[in-house]
Amino acid sequence: MSRTQDAIAAAEAHSAHNYHPLPVVVATAEGAWMTDVEGRRYLDLLAGYSALNFGHGNRRLIEAAKAQLDRVTLTSRAFHHDRFADFCTQLAEFCGMETVLPMNTGAEAVETAVKTARKWGYRVKGVPDGAARIVVAAGNFHGRTTTVVSFSTDPEAREDHGPYTPGFDVVPYGDLQALAAAVTDETVAVLLEPIQGEAGVLVPPPGYLAGVRELTRERGVLFVADEIQSGLGRTGRSFACEHEGVVPDMYLLGKALGGGVVPVSAVVSSAEVLGVHRPGEHGSTFGGNPLACAVALEVLAMLRTGEYQQRAAELGDHLHRELNLLVGPGAVREVRGRGLWAGVDLDPGRGTGREVSERLMARGVLVKDTHGSTIRIAPPLVISKEDLDWGLEQLREVLAV
Ligand code: PLP
Repeated sequence: MSRTQDAIAAAEAHSAHNYHPLPVVVATAEGAWMTDVEGRRYLDLLAGYSALNFGHGNRRLIEAAKAQLDRVTLTSRAFHHDRFADFCTQLAEFCGMETVLPMNTGAEAVETAVKTARKWGYRVKGVPDGAARIVVAAGNFHGRTTTVVSFSTDPEAREDHGPYTPGFDVVPYGDLQALAAAVTDETVAVLLEPIQGEAGVLVPPPGYLAGVRELTRERGVLFVADEIQSGLGRTGRSFACEHEGVVPDMYLLGKALGGGVVPVSAVVSSAEVLGVHRPGEHGSTFGGNPLACAVALEVLAMLRTGEYQQRAAELGDHLHRELNLLVGPGAVREVRGRGLWAGVDLDPGRGTGREVSERLMARGVLVKDTHGSTIRIAPPLVISKEDLDWGLEQLREVLAV
């Protein structure tokens, strides 16, 4: 057996099968490229579901992490540490908000948002105890915890995980009227992805996010934007909400906030909203740890230059132009997305998303399928135009167009 087959067989034997990875075993990575245990190189067009916006092994992030490793890595929030204030101050400022509540994974940030919105509802809005409701969109993906899958509409994510957490109303994504009809006096928040990533990079109709902003403001409801995948440069702006000139009440951030080095997530909002938490009411052992803060501070320093957003916008225009040329009978049905982020619906006659991903892998390109015949393209924002073009060339050849 090859080293690849050995490693996969051992993993299959000793790990839960909650994923179905492509059969590649990565050993090292740099920039937009990964190298497997056999020395084969692959162009990474997934970027850890947008956690690797700054590429693999980004020197600035690695140096920031190394420097912090030699100082202090964890204090818990039982004590203060000297990176925490900078992290919270700079992240709040970057978001144009006041207050930060740090966690680790995206799902934890979403859980924190749910708890915060409910508590805000009871303590500030005056919703009767236990009655708070949150409106979410069909097709959402906000993580894997029991509460979060309770309002998923994906049977795979949801089935056999009950009993489910009540208090959520699901409306079609992109439908402002349905949203307006679902908001009641008990509604404390509308929780949305400004672009639905896992659903296949679905961009809502123009005016939708602005409409959600207006509606939530009028009805005294928090607008919570889950920018865990869409935020921090991916769409060509710092936040996907910016494309509609919208500022929500709360940003949920994760993935790229930790630069693909450490898990870092955060809820960012106003002092009034996050001020509902009192000591002992919510927390996390690792949330806001010194290593996480050090890496995230470097991420923020890189984002503040605007160069990654600009790169995503420019290369993204190129990516979408090229992908749209593939739209036609027998090849690609539809291309969606913004910036360096695309959902490509393949003609099912060309194979499933998985099959096309495997054919691309054989040519040294790694993408991830979603929902049958869709593949997602989300390269690190540091990818060169030449490498992106090479990846697109492989896609063209795999689709034979
Ligand atoms: N929210 C969105 C929009 C996501 O795309 C994801 C992950 O894909 C999550 C939340 C959950 O993040 P995590 O896997 O870090 O828990």
